Amino acid sequence: MRPNLDALVPAYVREFDPYIPSKPDAELMKLYGSERLFRLNNNENPLGPPPGAQEVIRRFPPPQGALYPSGDSYYLREAIAAFHGLDPDQVLVGNGANEVIAFVIKAFCTQGDNIVTADKTFAVYEWVAVFSGIEARVIPLKDEGFDDIGMLRAIDPNTKILFVCNPNNPTGSYWSKERLKAFLDAVGGERIVVVDEAYFEFVEQEDYPDGVSLLSDYPNLVVFRTFSKMYGIAGLRIGYLVGDLAVVDMIRRTCVVYSVNRLAQEAALAAFRDDTGHIRRTRALVRESRAFLRKELAKLRLPIISGEGNYLIVKLPGSDTLAYRKMMREGIMIRPMTGFRYPNHIRVSLAKMEAMEAFVAALKKTLET
Ligand SMILES: *Cc1c(COP(=O)(O)O)cnc(C)c1O
Repeated sequence: MRPNLDALVPAYVREFDPYIPSKPDAELMKLYGSERLFRLNNNENPLGPPPGAQEVIRRFPPPQGALYPSGDSYYLREAIAAFHGLDPDQVLVGNGANEVIAFVIKAFCTQGDNIVTADKTFAVYEWVAVFSGIEARVIPLKDEGFDDIGMLRAIDPNTKILFVCNPNNPTGSYWSKERLKAFLDAVGGERIVVVDEAYFEFVEQEDYPDGVSLLSDYPNLVVFRTFSKMYGIAGLRIGYLVGDLAVVDMIRRTCVVYSVNRLAQEAALAAFRDDTGHIRRTRALVRESRAFLRKELAKLRLPIISGEGNYLIVKLPGSDTLAYRKMMREGIMIRPMTGFRYPNHIRVSLAKMEAMEAFVAALKKTLET
């Protein structure tokens, strides 16, 4: 007999639309009949991992594939803690920052609670909340940035966590140190504030805050970082959170140990210790590509939304999903933004000039046909 799924599955799970990841590159190239593919949809680092991490990956001893990793990323946590001047027990490593989002929501929220975030931001905060039966209050962006006043107004006694993406993916807007501190002061210590700094290493603005430096003043603050973007090991899935000792001690209860594999831990450690100028090279590449796209898109009279991070948004005169299909035929994969509440917009990762030129050529062709 088939299980009665209507009775078994909570309504908030039944009614949730699963996220459908894109097919593997080779399948997409067959499907769209293209011989090359520039991946400009996931904000990956086109320079790959730093040299030291590449070496670790190359030399990984195959027999170690049989051994479980350190269950709590012991040495990596030590290195991260030393770097930030924290206790290793203030650090929790996850299978991508994506996984630590779930740790935090599970640790603090129960049915009837809510989280507060923006409507157009990294969608995983909202998704994890909703499929866990937690209400997500999504506050419209203001001037393409997180609306602090609107978020504060949305707080009620059941609000457990506020998620701020700084800088915001996809708009590239950011809160200054002053603005973040004013927000933390206004929220008070009754609830958790998560600041997601997935693109921290890309930002070069003077007034951009290092959330980790605010931990001693705000013990309700939790900061996310990832090795997927600047450090170029998205394929190995590793990210982390830091927070106050007592707060992290609670979050640790909801994390499944051994979710971070051996190779990811070792590559992250090597990436973290890189001293070959990987960050500097990546920043220079992003700067050059952003300037190039700004100029080219202005020539095409296409409005853009561009700030920090290794991506920008382009507003198209028509459908973004149609543009996706047309550009795929040219071997360019961008992110259509309809599903992220930006109809007729696409997000493009800032990558090597060759890819940027191919993107502009494909976009021109798309607009003409
Ligand atoms: C990419 C990204 C993450 C998560 O990255 P992981 O690959 O899961 O570490 C988290 N937040 C934002 C804003 C991102 O863009």
